Amino acid sequence: MPRLIADRPFLKLTSELGQVMAAARAREQAGARVLHLERGEPDFETPGHIVEALAVAARAGETHYPDARGTLAFRQTLVEKLERGNGIRCEPDDIVVTQGGTHALFLTFQSLLGPGDEVLVLSPHWMAIPKLVALSHGARYRTMPAYLELLEEKLAPQALADRLRETLAPETRGIYVNTPNNPTGAVLSREALAAIASVAIERDLWVVSDEAYEHLLFDGYRHVSIASLPGMAERTVSVFTFSKSYAMTGWRVGYAVSPPALRPVLGPLLSFYTTHGVFPSVQSAARAAVRGPQDAVETMRRAYQERRDLLLSGLAGQDAVRIPKPRGAFYGFADVSAALAGRDIWELIREWLELGVAVLPGTAFGSEYGDWVRMSLATRREDVADAARLLREHLAATPRAGARAG
Ligand code: PMP
Repeated sequence: MPRLIADRPFLKLTSELGQVMAAARAREQAGARVLHLERGEPDFETPGHIVEALAVAARAGETHYPDARGTLAFRQTLVEKLERGNGIRCEPDDIVVTQGGTHALFLTFQSLLGPGDEVLVLSPHWMAIPKLVALSHGARYRTMPAYLELLEEKLAPQALADRLRETLAPETRGIYVNTPNNPTGAVLSREALAAIASVAIERDLWVVSDEAYEHLLFDGYRHVSIASLPGMAERTVSVFTFSKSYAMTGWRVGYAVSPPALRPVLGPLLSFYTTHGVFPSVQSAARAAVRGPQDAVETMRRAYQERRDLLLSGLAGQDAVRIPKPRGAFYGFADVSAALAGRDIWELIREWLELGVAVLPGTAFGSEYGDWVRMSLATRREDVADAARLLREHLAATPRAGARAG
């Protein structure tokens, strides 16, 4: 066979999600019931008025090549949304409409990173980040633990700034921040974001702000966009998506907003890397999502909060699986070190799968999280409750599973 040139480092990165989903499917094919707490995909339907807007736009002929950066009408709507909802002031030319948040992050890293550059990724982080960085011209990433301590209020803003200063290297071009955070559910306070901002300004760094879960907050917590803080708009690329807020994962629509300095970079890159933009009727539908009633967003937010409460209360009364209370997004990140009792995380994943509960190993979110698992709340409330009950009963019945590691 001729030499294979597609031998890229990123092709060798494993997908923990793929492995767990395949194992879960195999069990289902063998007739077993599996509760799917591994996937991060909303189980709700896209609200009807958004689907209708797509049909109307397609019938009206919005079926031709769009402006690759996004239709002007949609970007104008996003300018208003960003000012009103995020405190970010910009012009339509500062926005690019992308095929979801993943694509927006891909383009952002393509824009900012060159050979030898590094992006500092606060961790635990969303699992696609290593692949997205690996695709960027030989750039690298390094992680810095932050979200768990922030969630548990064990890391004051000043200490966060100090840790950043100690961790940054001369090669660091930017910091990747994700609030609300996947997988921990941490919501960064204005003060924590201001601490990150002060270091970014001091060291003249970019900030890549992933706000995929901006509407999914619990207990009255509020979302703050770091680009709205003084001095930050000029050094921040903020990434948003319709996937989570409006249950639109399959529509592949999101956007990035960046300072005018990136106008000659992001637009042309996008034009190339999407082979000319996002289907204009989808953009009209997404516009209808922003301008239309928001009650479906609130219904979903409440449902995720209720499921979070079910998961936490269902696991109460044991201490082998400990979940710091998530304040947003739709995951619980669980410390399972006691249940592991020294075993490898994949042993526990298989043991729980045999019980009928699929979860993801923490290593998908950073190599330092081998004692953790992520449990998704993007599944029916009955399934979340059943999973918590099955695990509690299992932990009570299995001395090793429930015992503290000696
Ligand atoms: N950022 C984070 C933190 C995510 O969890 C996800 C999806 N799981 C995304 C971005 C991107 O999602 P999409 O490409 O569907 O917009």
